[in-house]
Amino acid sequence: MAILDEILDRVSRTRASGRLPVVVFDLDSTLIETAPRHLAILREFVAEAWPDPSVAEVVAGLTTADFGWAVGAPLRRRGVDSPELHEALIRFWFERFFDSDYLRHDTAAPGAVEFVRAVVERGGFAYYLTARHLPEMGLGTVQSLIKLGFPYLDGCSTLQLKPSKSDGDAPFKRAAHAAIAALGGEVIATFENEPGHLNALLDDFPAAAHVRYGHVHSPDAPAPRPEIHHIESFRLA
Ligand SMILES: [Mg+2]
Repeated sequence: MAILDEILDRVSRTRASGRLPVVVFDLDSTLIETAPRHLAILREFVAEAWPDPSVAEVVAGLTTADFGWAVGAPLRRRGVDSPELHEALIRFWFERFFDSDYLRHDTAAPGAVEFVRAVVERGGFAYYLTARHLPEMGLGTVQSLIKLGFPYLDGCSTLQLKPSKSDGDAPFKRAAHAAIAALGGEVIATFENEPGHLNALLDDFPAAAHVRYGHVHSPDAPAPRPEIHHIESFRLA
């Protein structure tokens, strides 16, 4: 049985045994794609801050499929590598990427909405754990989850965001494991794009299935431990 089906099966069986099945989901680059946000910001950058027709032409030819971790990488691959441009772009990007207004560009990973719904329909509890920070991104995140159709307003989910932009992602996520355990249920599975976070989840929830989604991760990420599964899509067969 494919790992996604196995997880759904385990959710059903855990619920039938009277325990609360908990499934943990990261948002960015797991349930939600960040490429549309990168592309929107890059288009604004060439329109407002870097008036160079040759760069604008390159940007006009980009699609969401061109983006991975770093907003500037698609430009570098096309020979646009001026250090001044990339420094200005990173500053421009940093002021916008972590802002609720830009989360309107969010799109769901293929099959992600249907998979989270399937977890909840089987009696599972969806725990959205994200390093998006509450003051600047909380409202936009709630609006985005609802707009995209993820379970949210049904009492079968919760959303935990980082209290402050300056907190480190890894310590924040690690500390959240205690809150997840405090639900008193059984952690069935976790989904993440970052191998480092997955390795920590495996340490604290060894009986759960841990699943890495896709190929986007931070440049200094450690290798995922061999027990960690990998999927390219949330679509059920
Ligand atoms: Mg992520």
